[in-house]
Amino acid sequence: MCNAEIPQLCAACGSSTYCSKKCQKEDWALHKVLCKGYKLFHALRPDQHHQLAILFPVDAEYPRPVWVKIEAKAEQKDVTTGTNAKYGIIEMHLLADVQIGTLLGEDGRETSKIISEYNIARGFHLVHQIEVIRCADHDKQSVNKSIFNVTKGKVGEYWKGPVVVTRRLYLEGAKDGKQPAEGTTEIRFGRGMQYEDMALADLRHAVDLFLAFPAEDAKAIAENGSA
Ligand SMILES: [Zn+2]
Ligand SMILES: [Zn+2]
Repeated sequence: MCNAEIPQLCAACGSSTYCSKKCQKEDWALHKVLCKGYKLFHALRPDQHHQLAILFPVDAEYPRPVWVKIEAKAEQKDVTTGTNAKYGIIEMHLLADVQIGTLLGEDGRETSKIISEYNIARGFHLVHQIEVIRCADHDKQSVNKSIFNVTKGKVGEYWKGPVVVTRRLYLEGAKDGKQPAEGTTEIRFGRGMQYEDMALADLRHAVDLFLAFPAEDAKAIAENGSA
């Protein structure tokens, strides 16, 4: 959770790493919420198209692990420059969509996402992205009890409605190579995205984001003079 270079693994879940016993102790109050059942839950993956996410229910004390279905999709884009080009370049983007199903209420609800690759509170860059997914109309929903609880009420009434947190990797595409030969079309890999299982350190990153976000938002509102 602190990005230690020579980390120690939590033996119970085999998921979170710490730089020291002290560091582990500091994380325990939050970590214990998911630590104990993690190994068992992890062994019950429905199939290889499912990745582990964390649900923060609107109406329960604690978050819990959930499986979300990932749908891979490929997009093709013609990026040939110039109308008279004598060659073609097609970019392939290998992307993915997360299927939330009924985790946010009825299926097919419109969602909104916050994507972060930093832990602002601890001041480091994550190697992956944390994706916070909630209903587009979360403002009209009740206060999220599990987020309120794990942040010890510090976020007040900011987080509303159920929230799902996933972990994903954003992959850079190949850089421009040399021009293809005349009369040919080349297929190149563009950007890509893939989902991964949430590690338990991500629980801390998610909670840090929950804590930081209202303040960041307040700052933006203060700077822009409106909401
Ligand atoms: Zn653990
Ligand atoms: Zn540490």
